[in-house]
Amino acid sequence: MIDMNVFKQFQEAIKHLGDMAQPEALTDEQRVSRAKAVMHSKIDRHLAMDLEACVNCGYCSEACQFYQRTGDAKYTPTRKLDLLRRVHSREISALAPIKRLFTRDITAQDLEAWQELVYDSCTECGRCSMVCPMGINIARGVSVMRESLFEAGLAPLEIMAVAQEQTGRGTVFGVGPAELLTCVEALRAQGIPVPLDEPRADVLLVSTVIDVLLFQDALAATARILNHLGVNWTLRSAGFEAANFGLLSGSETLQKLASKRLIDEALAIGAKTVILPECGHAYAALRWEGQLEDGQPLPFEVVAAAEFVGRAVQQGQLKLQPGDASQKITYHDACKLARHGGVIEEPRAALKALGMNYQDTTPTAELNWCCGGGSGAFLLNRDAPLRHKAWQIKKEQINATGADTVVVSCASCRLNFIEGAEIDEWSTHIESLVVMVAQQLPAKPTA
Ligand code: SF4
Ligand code: SF4
Repeated sequence: MIDMNVFKQFQEAIKHLGDMAQPEALTDEQRVSRAKAVMHSKIDRHLAMDLEACVNCGYCSEACQFYQRTGDAKYTPTRKLDLLRRVHSREISALAPIKRLFTRDITAQDLEAWQELVYDSCTECGRCSMVCPMGINIARGVSVMRESLFEAGLAPLEIMAVAQEQTGRGTVFGVGPAELLTCVEALRAQGIPVPLDEPRADVLLVSTVIDVLLFQDALAATARILNHLGVNWTLRSAGFEAANFGLLSGSETLQKLASKRLIDEALAIGAKTVILPECGHAYAALRWEGQLEDGQPLPFEVVAAAEFVGRAVQQGQLKLQPGDASQKITYHDACKLARHGGVIEEPRAALKALGMNYQDTTPTAELNWCCGGGSGAFLLNRDAPLRHKAWQIKKEQINATGADTVVVSCASCRLNFIEGAEIDEWSTHIESLVVMVAQQLPAKPTA
């Protein structure tokens, strides 16, 4: 159960995040030049095809929560790639010499205008690509736009501030090894054994600033499940932060650095598995983008907490006490887990093992609606009204199931649900998947 006072303090702190940013003083020419350098380096064969293939059918608009709730044409998904399209058309494509004659060059003002389109009104959820008849990966293009804007010094100040903190001090919102230790000691005081800085372990559990500050119940629950299963695991002070503000901001350098901190710890202890906390973008950062320094694949498995728990249920290792069969629950698929990662059956296996009345949403799984606050949108102060409108689609979807509890497996989604529920006085209970599972662990380990 979250302490709402701590949540409000967190919300208040977010309001001042931007004041901590140290933006680079760049000329307009430098901004455009830097952004274009990124675009040129990132427009490969696949992205070039995506930029040329759009037939302007408009299907993607209907799939996007930001367009759906506003009807504003500027939020059309394909339009978010227009600057990339112009640079590709004028400077890279086979017809560039001709296209230059009638396609306007991009400007610093264009880049500034696109900040809202690729940070505030795009969670890189990927839903638009599910319906695109040409299979265009819009979220990938948006990610390249974020990298371009970051290099141009035009990331939103809130995200820039945290990216600078994580790059420089290695902490996120001031949470480092000392804060982790305080959190671990609090869990130990509750009688939960939490191994910290063990020199060898099969499993490295990583956490996130959000869990350390706000959702300690999720960390406690994961620890209890691992202990129950008899897993040889540890947390490591030098590499526990799964939140990756490189991925969120568009800083590829930080994205690699933040992943390296986790990878180094996993290698140091000889881990066979790294379990990520309930955090969608952490999954994208380490599972899909993580690699060794020489570009080789990681020599250990990376799994999400929901994936690990669901697999243990599917394989018969984890059996749960039967819950209240009259309690109606549903599940919100985090985009980075389900749509991008294919983690669909595992969380459902865990939820069905609870023995409650489980009801899927419509649509569900890879077509489920985004919560509206992912990919850092939750941190943007000016974005609050827009992301709330987007979240209301989610709320209506959950209401239609009649569930009294919505279960989530991403701390960022959980934050956005809590914020939305508070504004709308929505009474549906919002709960973490690992917390639900840990509440129904049998008294003794199952055979
Ligand atoms: S990735 Fe999601 S938020 Fe972004 S444009 Fe597509 S549907 Fe909209
Ligand atoms: S659905 Fe695909 S082809 Fe149609 S407008 Fe969107 S990006 Fe273009």
